[in-house]
Amino acid sequence: MDKMKKDFSPTLLDFGPLQIRLARHFGFCYGVENAIEIAFRTVAENPGKRIYLLSEMIHNPQVNADLRSHGIEFLQDTYGRQLIPFDQLTADDVVMIPAFGTTLEIEKQLNEIGIQTEKYNTTCPFVEKVWNRSEAIAKKDYSIIIHGKPKHEETRATFSHAAGSAPSVVVEDMKQAVSLAGYITGEKPAATFYEEFAGQYSGGFDISKDLERIGVVNQTTMLASDTQAIADYLKKVMMEKYHLQEAVAGERFADTRDTLCYATLDNQTAVSGMLDVPADFALVVGGYNSSNTSHLVELCEERLPTYFIGSSDNIISEKEIIHYDFHHKMETVIHDYLPAKQPVSILITSGASCPDALVEGIIRKLAGYFQVEFSADEMIEQFS
Ligand code: SF4
Repeated sequence: MDKMKKDFSPTLLDFGPLQIRLARHFGFCYGVENAIEIAFRTVAENPGKRIYLLSEMIHNPQVNADLRSHGIEFLQDTYGRQLIPFDQLTADDVVMIPAFGTTLEIEKQLNEIGIQTEKYNTTCPFVEKVWNRSEAIAKKDYSIIIHGKPKHEETRATFSHAAGSAPSVVVEDMKQAVSLAGYITGEKPAATFYEEFAGQYSGGFDISKDLERIGVVNQTTMLASDTQAIADYLKKVMMEKYHLQEAVAGERFADTRDTLCYATLDNQTAVSGMLDVPADFALVVGGYNSSNTSHLVELCEERLPTYFIGSSDNIISEKEIIHYDFHHKMETVIHDYLPAKQPVSILITSGASCPDALVEGIIRKLAGYFQVEFSADEMIEQFS
């Protein structure tokens, strides 16, 4: 009910010839801050011990490099490929579970070595909320549809937890949701499901009965509007197939709206608020493999030229910027990104795993290219 919390208009940093509009909500979320705090506390509490993180703590190279510099090693890469074999671990080692959580299988493997995973578990409470919700709907005999990227750590973890309680399938996007609907209605032959969704359904999934009652949960960093669209669509499919009115739709479709993560939602809504202001281009700051950052890029790209950058190092000069084209997974150098006019108006936001210091570095660098009326320090003073 707090009006201030509903204000999604951007903050204007008026340097005169350079006008920067910062999204009302950007950068680190509660889950990431919490995970980083636990990680550094773990280092402090365990001198002389080998300390590992199951995988990249969060998708930000600077944060991960910082953790490495404190002696923390990674056991797996982002895709679950082993960097250090588990058989090299002993019960004396410390293994932290990252903010995304992990699969039940990996937890079991580590526990069998004697490692207490619950002691240094940084799994975000909002991810756990999705697991709890999955479990709750599983108990009511719904199968679980997970909207997420099948290879993302969080989706793999959520899938593992969901599959422990109910038949589960991952759908990556609306295209896959439409395809899944073909199996719900019976328009598509059951046999092709197993090929089409290979690696995305739980063991023993029976297409002839496991799509009769469903609920949708998501990887918390997916676009909230995309998850909602997929849930609305599948609900409609179920209502049509079983001739249900809205009031009794719950007979076949579980209501799971409350699993969206507030931070993802706030960052996305703040980008929409920021995009209401006309500007020359947008900068989105974050790790190249960060899912939530790429979604912010997608939102901005729909409206104006947008550059996805990791840090101020991407800004080579006032003439050139290195943009990460996440659609084609490659960096490109963009020439003359600053328009030859004044004032230049730039929108800036950053992903949930991006430290604010990186955004500050970018603002300082850009301000250095203009005859600004206030220095960056004066601007910081004004807002602190
Ligand atoms: S984006 Fe949301 S779910 Fe993910 S770590 Fe942050 S607060 Fe948790």
